[in-house]
Amino acid sequence: MQAVTESLIAPAVGEFISRRKQMLIDGEWVDAASGETFSTVDPATEESLAEVPAGDAEDVDRAVRAARRAFESGPWPRMTASERGRAIWKLADLIEENLEEFAQLETLDNGKPLTVARAADIPLVVDHFRYYAGWATKVEGETIPVSVPGMFTYTTREPVGVVGQIIPWNFPLLMAAWKLGVALACGNTVVLKPAEQTPLSALRLGELIDAAGFPPGVVNIVTGYGETAGAALTKHPDVDKVAFTGSTEVGKLIMATAADSLKRVSLELGGKSPNIVFADADLDLAAEGAAAAIYFNHGQCCCAGSRLFIEDKVFDKVLPKIVDYSEQIQLGPGLDPETTMGPLVSSEQFERVNGFLDAGKAEGANIATGGGRPDSLTKGYFVAPTVFTGVKPEMKVVREEIFGPVVCAVPFKDPEEVVAAGNDTAYGLAAAVWTKDIQKAHRAARMLKAGTVWINCYNQFDAAAPFGGYKQSGFGREMGKAALELYTQLKTTWVNLGEAG
Ligand code: ADP
Repeated sequence: MQAVTESLIAPAVGEFISRRKQMLIDGEWVDAASGETFSTVDPATEESLAEVPAGDAEDVDRAVRAARRAFESGPWPRMTASERGRAIWKLADLIEENLEEFAQLETLDNGKPLTVARAADIPLVVDHFRYYAGWATKVEGETIPVSVPGMFTYTTREPVGVVGQIIPWNFPLLMAAWKLGVALACGNTVVLKPAEQTPLSALRLGELIDAAGFPPGVVNIVTGYGETAGAALTKHPDVDKVAFTGSTEVGKLIMATAADSLKRVSLELGGKSPNIVFADADLDLAAEGAAAAIYFNHGQCCCAGSRLFIEDKVFDKVLPKIVDYSEQIQLGPGLDPETTMGPLVSSEQFERVNGFLDAGKAEGANIATGGGRPDSLTKGYFVAPTVFTGVKPEMKVVREEIFGPVVCAVPFKDPEEVVAAGNDTAYGLAAAVWTKDIQKAHRAARMLKAGTVWINCYNQFDAAAPFGGYKQSGFGREMGKAALELYTQLKTTWVNLGEAG
């Protein structure tokens, strides 16, 4: 670890990292049955942070059996909705008390600037758990005015059962919270598998889950690789539902595997989101927003604004602002207070993004700024903020999700043309429009095929606002009331009141 940042690590974080890592199964901390471990790496230094159990099918099976027992018997199904809500609220309090520790763990494991983890990731996690703590007492059914004489008919929402949750590495704790909060509020039990690149914050969360008063087996945390632990969870016949956030490629695999036991599936997948700047927008605001849309979390956001459409009349005005913004970004280790962009998460991701940069150059796109790791940084998975111009719709950098700080800037002439171009993608996670014309903004929002549309803003999130994809960006909505659909099943009860005729 680089000495300059090592000294910035809080004692509690250092102590947690050096402690032996085990998985949480049935309320116990255990090794993988195989005894195998894998390294989680600090992407700023390329050095190992910790060894973590390499869970596999046997561990997943133990975790699923524990979750099943916890769901069917024991204290969890007997707890009242209010008690469940209070446990979730307590978990939020405990995370908040340890906010700095969680922020540092995210920074070390994922690479993101500490300022971001501290101001965005962890506060959103806390807020998210509090939001769903409130829902625990509001999972309601309806009475149905059936036209059969003498019958009283009502619906209730019951938990789905044992749910498998497969978490990505870009917002490790926040993505776990998106899935856990609602699942627990609805009374399910969970086997959670964090990404192999970023398992640390989930393991620390496991310690707090215990302290918050969740009975053993309600939340189980199995660390391991996607192809082994993740696949075993997707395949397991006693898992009722699997929720996944990650690449579209793996999402397709998960859906195919889950078909065998007809598991419910919800998928939050990739994106290639269009960000549209009209000439009548506040151009300073739009340029800054467009840069933030692609560079937030180093472009490692499924909703990153990676296709930037700028009305041709103002293209030469807006582009230099974005280039300027890109060049002001300070690359460095996330713990360094000067850093505004950290490294990509892993060597694999570093190779992948550089592969896209090479493909863009080979296909004839121009690089307005950026284009790889700056010479000043010899270690760490850093990629400079990069703007491509002169791209064509069929180019790989325009069609495929890069998941790095790389944006394609494209001029357009009119609203119809740009909406068609924006929709010309297999994805449909998010889109944005920048204009002062309210009618134009809403018309575009209506025509864009995306689960979220931002007008004169980008990357706005709230626990109450549903988020999810159209087309190959997946299906199911996380957050808000909408997520209750994913974690409950509807039961219709008919009662003969004995008064027919
Ligand atoms: P990325 O390609 O961006 O690294 P992935 O979609 O591969 O993202 O990973 C997201 C999550 O999915 C991680 O927790 C990973 O371990 C898991 N995963 C990867 N492959 C599989 C698989 N075949 N089955 C189940 N989970 C998987």
